[in-house]
Amino acid sequence: MPTFQFDLFVVGGGSGGVRAARMAAQRGARVALAEAGALGGTCVNVGCIPKKLYSYAAHYAEAFHEAAGFGWQVEPPRFDWNTLKANRAIEISRLNGIYQQLLTGAGVQLLTGWATLVDAHTVQVGEQRYTAEHILVATGGTPTVPSIPGAEHAVVSDAMFDLEPFPQRLLVVGGGYIACEFASIFNGLGSKVTQVYRGEQVLRGFDDDVRSFLAQEVRKAGVDLRLQSDVASILRTAAGLEVRLSNGDTLTVDQVLYAIGRVPNVQGMGLEALGLAQGKDGAIQVDRHYQTSVPSIYALGDVTARLQLTPVALGEAMALVDHLLGPKAGKAARQMDYELIPTAVFTHPNIGTVGLSEAAARQQFGQVSIFRSEFKALKHTLSGSTERTLMKLVVDDASDRVVGLHMVGADAGEVVQGFAVAMKAGATKAVFDSTIGIHPTMAEEFVTMREPVPLPV
Ligand code: FAD
Ligand code: NDP
Repeated sequence: MPTFQFDLFVVGGGSGGVRAARMAAQRGARVALAEAGALGGTCVNVGCIPKKLYSYAAHYAEAFHEAAGFGWQVEPPRFDWNTLKANRAIEISRLNGIYQQLLTGAGVQLLTGWATLVDAHTVQVGEQRYTAEHILVATGGTPTVPSIPGAEHAVVSDAMFDLEPFPQRLLVVGGGYIACEFASIFNGLGSKVTQVYRGEQVLRGFDDDVRSFLAQEVRKAGVDLRLQSDVASILRTAAGLEVRLSNGDTLTVDQVLYAIGRVPNVQGMGLEALGLAQGKDGAIQVDRHYQTSVPSIYALGDVTARLQLTPVALGEAMALVDHLLGPKAGKAARQMDYELIPTAVFTHPNIGTVGLSEAAARQQFGQVSIFRSEFKALKHTLSGSTERTLMKLVVDDASDRVVGLHMVGADAGEVVQGFAVAMKAGATKAVFDSTIGIHPTMAEEFVTMREPVPLPV
């Protein structure tokens, strides 16, 4: 039996890597973790956390405006971009420190630098080589930019948090999570935002009602959303970035954000030489235990290019540690369940969703009933805002189970999280109907919708 320096060597200190390293070390394993950038990875440094902080900042714009209807006299508010950037940076540094303490406190040996895989049991960081029984690749992903003329003038989401100066005119390219979220955020912060998306409607894969409702709401809020439109070229001029669209239109902006998807971080790591099976864009292929085609090497999170969400990377990490080291005493081994994963898009208003879209449910179950409610939230009877809320349930007629639940409205992510628990427990529409609402809330609408939407004739 060869002897290894470590039981587990984790490459990447993001959501998945940190969780796996910490949990394995807490179980007594000898663990090392190499991180080339800042601890916490995408989510902490350039993803979920700073994005949500900026979303909160943007929501103040409407809050100041709406306060007047409730009797508050507010001086015309002034937004200071530098204060937001500085306060965000302080908070992120604090989180980086907490991650470091958590890891070292658990006994993980932290290594700073770019890691490459030398063989099935050896990792190199800088000049130093380390051996491990198991290697976990949790290196996440990187945003992509297409090769159009002038693409070098565009930025990706990583750069948006520290732009200097604040972009008064912003073009956002894409129709996914990041494009929609940043369009809303910078619109709220005061940019004149144009968003172009190549397809018929943003957020492909989401429920069609949700997609069109969201498009309507963000347009009302001020985003100039242009569908079936793409960028042909970008030219730097004295007036700003001159962008020519595929339909011949031009516009001049201060920044162009490309948010058209992310590719796995696998370049320059020596994976090909090891014969590790990879898919599209280099995504590492794994089995249900996150084992790659090289048995001692595992991979999880965004580098496997499946569901790119922090809680998914965390869940996969916990399942892997239980698989490798056995479950905690008295507990069953954790399994990652990919059914009914709830998600939110932090647009303004938010989207919260769990389960199937109406179209997907019709395809899977045939007969479904749709319950749909669209209304002005109580708050907006005085606020003066024209924002509306959408709630929708998709019910499988044969079993009466609620198989899709969708919301566009304030704090939709907060509302949907709890309903996701009910749906995981198999809640039927009858259970929803027998649940007493909390009044007056928006969430109560989910348990008071009684009449299905009539079938189209
Ligand atoms: P990462 O967190 O990306 O970590 C990978 C780490 O590996 C990085 O720190 C990187 O520096 C390091 N690394 C890479 N290669 C090497 C190497 N060779 N050697 C050493 N280190 C290396 N998800 C949500 O659930 N909710 C959200 O609201 C949300 N918002 C997002 C907003 C944005 C703008 C973005 C970009 C993403 C967002 N996500 C969100 C997605 C979420 O951030 C990712 O799914 C999650 O971070 C994936 O975790 P991971 O561990 O797979 O990779
Ligand atoms: P997405 O995959 O969500 O969206 C990519 C968008 O870009 C789609 O609208 C796609 O269009 C479009 N697109 C793709 N290629 C091109 C191209 N060549 N030219 C023009 N448009 C193109 O990726 P994001 O970058 O938005 O985000 C990456 C992932 O990060 C998300 O999928 C999500 O998992 C995660 N994330 C999660 C968040 C959350 O939980 N709130 C927030 C932010 C990110 P089409 O649909 O036509 O292919």
